[in-house]
Amino acid sequence: KKRVYTFGNGQAEGKADMKNLLGGKGANLAEMNLIGVPVPPGFTITTDTCTEYNQLGKEKVIALLKEECEAAMAYVEKIMGTKFGDKENPLLMSVRSGARVSMPGMMDTVLNLGLNDEAVIGIAKKSGNERFAWDSYRRFVQMYGDVVMGMKPESKEDIDPFEEIMEEMKHSRGIENDTDFSVDDLKELVTKFKAAVKAKTGQDFPVDPWEQLWGSVCAVFDSWMNPRAKYYRAMNQFSEEWGTAVNVQAMVFGNMGDNSATGVAFTRDSATGENVFNGEYLINAQGEDVVSGVRTPQEITKEGSLRWAKLQGVSEEERFAKFPSLEEAMPVAYKELNETQRKLEEYFKDMQDLEFTIQDGKLWMLQTRSGKRTAAAMVKIAMDMLKEGMIDEKTAILRQDPNKLDELLHPVFDNEAIKGANVIAKGLPASPGAATGQIVFHADEAKKYPVSILVRIETSPEDLEGMDIAKGILTAKGGMTSHAAVVARGMGKCCVSGAGECIIDYKARTLKLKGKTYNDGDWISLNGSTGEVYEGKIATIDAELSGDFGEIMDLSDKFRKIDVRTNAETERECKVALKFGAAGIGLCRTEHMFFEGERIKAMREMILADDEAGRRKALEKLLPIQRKDFYDVFKVMAGLPVTVRLLDPPLHEFVPHEEANQAEMAKEMGISVETVKQKVEDLHEFNPMLGHRGCRLGNTYPEITEMQARAIIEAALDLKKEGISTLPEIMIPLIGNVKELKYQENIVRETIAKVFAERNESIEFLVGTMIEVPRAALTADEVAEVAEFFSFGTNDLTQMALGYSRDDAGKFLPEYIAKGILKHDPFQVLDQEGVGQLVKMGIEKGRSKRNNLKIGICGEHGGEPSSVEFCVKAGMNYVSCSPFRVPIARLAAAQAAV
Ligand code: ADP
Ligand code: MG
Ligand code: MG
Repeated sequence: KKRVYTFGNGQAEGKADMKNLLGGKGANLAEMNLIGVPVPPGFTITTDTCTEYNQLGKEKVIALLKEECEAAMAYVEKIMGTKFGDKENPLLMSVRSGARVSMPGMMDTVLNLGLNDEAVIGIAKKSGNERFAWDSYRRFVQMYGDVVMGMKPESKEDIDPFEEIMEEMKHSRGIENDTDFSVDDLKELVTKFKAAVKAKTGQDFPVDPWEQLWGSVCAVFDSWMNPRAKYYRAMNQFSEEWGTAVNVQAMVFGNMGDNSATGVAFTRDSATGENVFNGEYLINAQGEDVVSGVRTPQEITKEGSLRWAKLQGVSEEERFAKFPSLEEAMPVAYKELNETQRKLEEYFKDMQDLEFTIQDGKLWMLQTRSGKRTAAAMVKIAMDMLKEGMIDEKTAILRQDPNKLDELLHPVFDNEAIKGANVIAKGLPASPGAATGQIVFHADEAKKYPVSILVRIETSPEDLEGMDIAKGILTAKGGMTSHAAVVARGMGKCCVSGAGECIIDYKARTLKLKGKTYNDGDWISLNGSTGEVYEGKIATIDAELSGDFGEIMDLSDKFRKIDVRTNAETERECKVALKFGAAGIGLCRTEHMFFEGERIKAMREMILADDEAGRRKALEKLLPIQRKDFYDVFKVMAGLPVTVRLLDPPLHEFVPHEEANQAEMAKEMGISVETVKQKVEDLHEFNPMLGHRGCRLGNTYPEITEMQARAIIEAALDLKKEGISTLPEIMIPLIGNVKELKYQENIVRETIAKVFAERNESIEFLVGTMIEVPRAALTADEVAEVAEFFSFGTNDLTQMALGYSRDDAGKFLPEYIAKGILKHDPFQVLDQEGVGQLVKMGIEKGRSKRNNLKIGICGEHGGEPSSVEFCVKAGMNYVSCSPFRVPIARLAAAQAAV
């Protein structure tokens, strides 16, 4: 079995598509060699060896590796003309970890491995640069001590013993930078570092290079199992079996003097996606110096450097003298770097994140990989590369991370307006987007100003309407899952939660922050993506599906094979959804229409009525209100299908629970408070989600169904008169037995026939059902004999299939996920193995009886990319999701189709 793969001098045993075996870093180091990019030679120990290491342990794995590693080292020695462990002419190595995907939490890199008290003298002589030799040795002892011998403190608050020694020495010498240490200082540091190692670990610092090498290799393998790495894997569903590779590579030195440097670069701008080469570097430095912040890194290109100086207020003389770009400081090496970055991007056909080192004027590449980027950059880079002919349309679609698009769907601050804005508080980025408005402290005052920001200590369900009207929500208390945060995310509304410094006085209507008072009506602005709160009015820009984003969406539409509808009840939601490309409404929940203002009274009257006559009286009042609601929705959605679900929730959700409201209700209806109380009590259920709800309501109170069917059809006929076409789809909820559906269907069709006769006019409509009770899926063939369409209500279906109450699952789901009992929250990501079977069976059985059965999904899952893919593959006609997720679903549907 081969465990070691060498690379160097334009040759390699591995290649780019061997990432699973060699890790991302190792595979690309091999590939760069093969395409003629200068890379220091080295070898990669496979990820499989990591798995063996965990099974067999240290000694056995070293024995397994010894021969191959020695041969590989000889290969490197030959190319480099140096010898590992030699006194006069020593070969120094770096040891780097690298799993198949880049993973924070893994072991840090060890550089300059192979040094000891003798080798350092050899290096000094050979290079003629004593300072460089001792600087490298100092770094090696520090890195090896930290990452292999456990000198790095566990907690971030504790001081690294090496840093402490260095700080002391800087202080006593009166110097600021690491680069100012003299050779003697460096020698003293090495001695002190080793003494610190001995004092803390009781062990001598290893002098034998092979011992150093095995120590580092094993430390990389060990780091695969450390808690940070485990946590990251659990979070991302990465498998423990993948293992990490170890890359052992000949050192090149960026710390050899002023003609040497090290840096990192991106082939395009990772923030904006602009096609400009950019990055940072440091002269006379090694590896981590650039990212660790010990010195201020400089820009690679002259253009970048000029922009940097302008932002920092650095004069041109100072910039050129102290912070020149690589382009200016080392023009020859820069030219080669620029050519290499072009070549690598061209070759890998994606934006690359590069690491390089220049040793005495000569460029070496140390890493290349696809660079991380913002949503805006993700979209722009793909579209640009498509236009440049670098990638094809399918690849452009597959390069998108659908969930990331969320960043682009909310308003943002105007770039100019945000400059110089004053941050007055910081809370949690609870719901993305930007908002500006005048402060209100009570939800029912949200309408007071044309644009308002609702400022609360915390929010509660009664605040719903005000939250909807306000442009943004700021709370002093509550985390990412607080009421405010959850509701705001659902609404796609900007929210900053848990801004603890806010002192809010509801009575006085004041917000105090750092001694300053803000009153009702004062302007503030929120950034829900960062959690920042700003003073004053800052212009925002609405999200538009324009430019590259619009083009990616058009492209998605070209490939996707199913429709994307939306779940919406109000005109406003419908408009947002249409802007985002919804092809209709997949779920219009009529009960949401009953909560506001006068409606709730009529609704309560109906529920509290003693008999059918009383109910009919109240329903008379509700009819015109419902008709108007449907009229508004159908009108905005003109010509598009609208699925209207008949009343679904348990009735007790509508009745007054508070004393005062009960009294008001009693007065209104001319009955005693006692009677109202009694009624409310009667409606109490032990398990309302499995109680008197869904079609069970319509089947016990058929007059409700009659009223709703009438309102839907009358609204549609009214619009027909105005020349606006409608496609109503009437949906019966929560059936488990075809007879439940049949009974409702009869009422609906009889009512509609009556309306048609009254008006001597008719329209097309469908009657269908939700499949959300497991029994409905199991008997879908029978159900399809009545239903003209199915809509999978996967929220209830999940709830009933798993037996998890949606409202109580928060108590155990997080722990279930942490313990690995569940991979995901099944209410967010469809449980394909379990609930998915019910869905598939429902589709197959349904279509076996009615082959043109129209089928969709209207649960939360309709906007979740992996679930959308499942729905596409299962053969649905459409998915339906909240307005702000429509673009995400469009893209996910396209990805499932390409
Ligand atoms: P990470 O995954 O944290 O980026 P790397 O293995 O890429 O870790 O190493 C970090 C840095 O160490 C590199 O960016 C590079 O500057 C430096 N480095 C690694 N190997 C070598 C080498 N053979 N010669 C010179 N510098 C190296
Ligand atoms: Mg790296
Ligand atoms: Mg349901």
